[in-house]
Amino acid sequence: MNRYEQMLLENKAWVEEMLEGDPAFFKKLSASQKPEFLWIGCSDSRVSPSEITQTSPGEIFIHRNVANLVVHTDFNLLSVLQYAVEVLEINHVIVCGHYGCGGVHAALTQQSYGMIDIWLRHIKDTYCAHKHEVDTQPNDEARANKLVEINVRQQVRNLAKTTIIQKAWKNRQRPFLHGWVFDMKDGIIRPQMEITPHQPCDDPVYAYDVFKK
Ligand SMILES: [Zn+2]
Repeated sequence: MNRYEQMLLENKAWVEEMLEGDPAFFKKLSASQKPEFLWIGCSDSRVSPSEITQTSPGEIFIHRNVANLVVHTDFNLLSVLQYAVEVLEINHVIVCGHYGCGGVHAALTQQSYGMIDIWLRHIKDTYCAHKHEVDTQPNDEARANKLVEINVRQQVRNLAKTTIIQKAWKNRQRPFLHGWVFDMKDGIIRPQMEITPHQPCDDPVYAYDVFKK
């Protein structure tokens, strides 16, 4: 049996298991969604949000891209963010990076991987801005780990710079922004930073005039 055929069988087994626990499970699931969290994570196959947080279908709205970046011209991410914040009214946005991130490792080298180099340029820019902090680490693994942490914090700050977040803070004092790093060597998620709705954008250059509208 091919692996994909096995996956379809596993799906049927999962349906049975869910129905055993709650015969109305799928009726409730299909009725609506009211997730409390938006997760912005890496596409890495080893960092499965629902698995590592033990959350059920319906609990997390998810966006994933290579190296969990929040890029202010990325309409895919911005659409997800706007819908999650303004329509679903989620209360928390979690940016979750991970040690051993291939995207972050690639950004520390001169190796070209094709078109993805353009995407990873955003991490190179972050590296450039924090070069001393990264380069003073004792070895390559520590350098990459440091850049993973700095990258997550940068993406949380990028969220705070959007009018979507600033408007939501003004209108309903939500969402809270969290930066986490998943360590696949021990399975632990390590929180790195949090920005609450009561803190203004830390750089006035990015503080928009959303309060007058
Ligand atoms: Zn990654």
